[in-house]
Amino acid sequence: MHFTLNENQVAIAELAAKFAAKEIAPHVDADEANGFFRKDLFRKAGEAGLLGIQLSSEFGGSDLGTMEYVLMLEEIAKVSSGYGTSLSVTMLPASMIAKAGTQAQKEKYLPALVSGEKIGAFCLTEPQNGSDAGSLQTTAVRKGDHYVLNGVKQFITNGMQADILLVMARTGQAGSKGVSAFIVETKTPGVKGGKLEKKMGMRVSPTQEILFENVVVPLENRLSDEGTGFTAAKTALDGGRISIAAIANGISKAALDRAIAYAKEREQFGKPIMEFQGVSFTLADMATELEASRLLTFQAAYRKDEHMDFSVQASMAKLKSTESCMRITTDAVQVLGGYGYMEEFQVERYMREAKMLQIVEGTSQIQRIVIARGMK
Ligand SMILES: Cc1cc2nc3c(=O)[nH]c(=O)nc-3n(C[C@H](O)[C@H](O)[C@H](O)COP(=O)(O)OP(=O)(O)OC[C@H]3O[C@@H](n4cnc5c(N)ncnc54)[C@H](O)[C@@H]3O)c2cc1C
Repeated sequence: MHFTLNENQVAIAELAAKFAAKEIAPHVDADEANGFFRKDLFRKAGEAGLLGIQLSSEFGGSDLGTMEYVLMLEEIAKVSSGYGTSLSVTMLPASMIAKAGTQAQKEKYLPALVSGEKIGAFCLTEPQNGSDAGSLQTTAVRKGDHYVLNGVKQFITNGMQADILLVMARTGQAGSKGVSAFIVETKTPGVKGGKLEKKMGMRVSPTQEILFENVVVPLENRLSDEGTGFTAAKTALDGGRISIAAIANGISKAALDRAIAYAKEREQFGKPIMEFQGVSFTLADMATELEASRLLTFQAAYRKDEHMDFSVQASMAKLKSTESCMRITTDAVQVLGGYGYMEEFQVERYMREAKMLQIVEGTSQIQRIVIARGMK
């Protein structure tokens, strides 16, 4: 399959690159060092039209597709994959509400998420249930015109910085068919912030435990029917996996560019290290891995936009792009030698960030399970 970007797509990529250069690049080293979350970035991204790319203009979106979204995320992630992750996670609840929400839910929540005035979070993982999310234990008990939620959600991106939580909770039988999805505002009494995690990387993106203690959620905040929550979350994650692949490819491109520039400049034994085959072959492999990853990601995005099955392709894109990202960033550190190990040259940060992408939104092992299931 051959991909040529159209004018809209090139324009979105340029817009995102300019946004990242102006709003993120000047702060990213300090923010990463201090674990500082730049909340106003969401509003600025919203104003720039970067958040609602895939959503309907009825709710402030741009009526564009996944391809445009992927290109935007790549550009943001080249500068900061931590902010790229936080921005993509705020759109997970938005995509679920857009797909399965009532008109009233869409009108109430989508414009605020698209403009960046409100931040979203996706609450599936629990302390005892990660990959096996269908066994989640948070409960939502119906009491007349409302539900009462109790439970703990673990490793939630954006944490209590978020205003709108999409929470998967058990309303019925054991297993994934007993799960429903709820829109819960963080300000609701009983929603409490737990442990704020200290992480290996992506420190600009908060990751926090969220506790639900007798949280009263009105019936109108249930997303679609009882028992459909796990399927809705899985569908959102299929799209989310394309986003994570795009973020991985952004990091890989930044690492590759840095390694090429360094290899051309750094001299040892009287010539640039690029002239040693041992280095140039490494760079050739890095470039090839990235190209393959991007093509898989574009293919998954294309299939989603064309309303074709894309679940297996999304898992392939996520698996390949994140595994390649781990390898490319590790090789970039090697090409830069001792300097690569130092914070100043940023490739060590890319390597730490790559690791996270192999775990979130389904680990590499879980992607292989999805791909293998597709063979039956
Ligand atoms: C920085 C960060 C941000 C996150 N943000 C969010 C968020 O916003 N919302 C959210 O809901 N979650 C979030 N998560 C959670 C993330 O999705 C989970 O960590 C992930 O799904 C894995 O779950 P787990 O950590 O419980 O690992 P486990 O499921 O316990 O897995 C441990 C190991 O066992 C392997 N494994 C498990 N089952 C199988 C199997 N059947 N076959 C082969 N291997 C298997 C896994 O691949 C892994 O290597 C985040 C995690 C991180 C690190």
